[in-house]
This record gives sequence, structure tokens and C-alpha cells, in this order.
Amino acid sequence: MPSSDHKFESAITNLKKERLRITEPRKALLQLLVEAPKPLSAEELHTTLGPGKFDLVTVYRNLEAFENAGIVNRIPTESGKSLYELNAERHHYHHIICRKCHRTEKLDTCEVAKLEKLASELGYSDVTHVLELYGVCESCQ
Ligand SMILES: [Zn+2]
Ligand SMILES: [Zn+2]
Repeated sequence: MPSSDHKFESAITNLKKERLRITEPRKALLQLLVEAPKPLSAEELHTTLGPGKFDLVTVYRNLEAFENAGIVNRIPTESGKSLYELNAERHHYHHIICRKCHRTEKLDTCEVAKLEKLASELGYSDVTHVLELYGVCESCQ
């Protein structure tokens, strides 16, 4: 079965590929992210890990390292708080986020290639983008 163990192993493999050290907080965070049914905020992750185990700054620092390594997706919300989810396959996609309950769903495609091409034609290199969609989900309407 495509178990969470497998996802955890592939996340660890990606950490190694990015030459990130496998530390206790990193392992604990990845395990939580693997098991999470929905994207979580740094505060939620911190609370679930057990307050007192690692401090919030450690959680933030490691999430940032994961994000830079492409292991975790950071989803900015309109309230300014970010949500995090595992990106085990390191596949590029976007989200639709409910403004009210923060339910988040994947939009499994990206149509921004055209815009990136335009930017490249203007002479820009290393072009990337951040795009999230916001709405009100069915159960919040
Ligand atoms: Zn909702
Ligand atoms: Zn995209």
C-alpha cells in the first residue's frame, strides 16, 4: 500500500539529496506532515509535537529549510498565516483555500507556464511563481 512509511522514507531521501541533516526535530516534523490529513500551520505543528519538546522558532526554521529544499509546500493564506504540507513527489501544483474554514484542496495543474515564458522573453532568469486561489467552500456557503 502507498503507506505513510513510504512517504516518510521519500521525504528523508529528499532531505539527504538536499544535504540537510537528519535531526530529531526534522524527523518529528516530517512524521507529522506525512500523517496530516490537511495542511497545518507552524503553530498547529508545534502544538501537536508537544509544547516543550521543540520551541516554535525551531519549528519555523526547519519548515523554512524544508520549503527551500522543495520538500514542503508553504501555502500563504489571506490572513497572513502560512500553512504547510508535505510535497513528497515534489510535483508542482496550486491550491484553492477556503477563506472561512481554511480547507485546502489541490488544483492538480499549472497554467502559468505561458507567463513564465513571457518573463523569460523579457530577459529574466530563474523565474518562479507563487499562486494560490481563495474562495468559500461548499460547506461554508
Ligand atoms: Zn470552508
Ligand atoms: Zn504553477
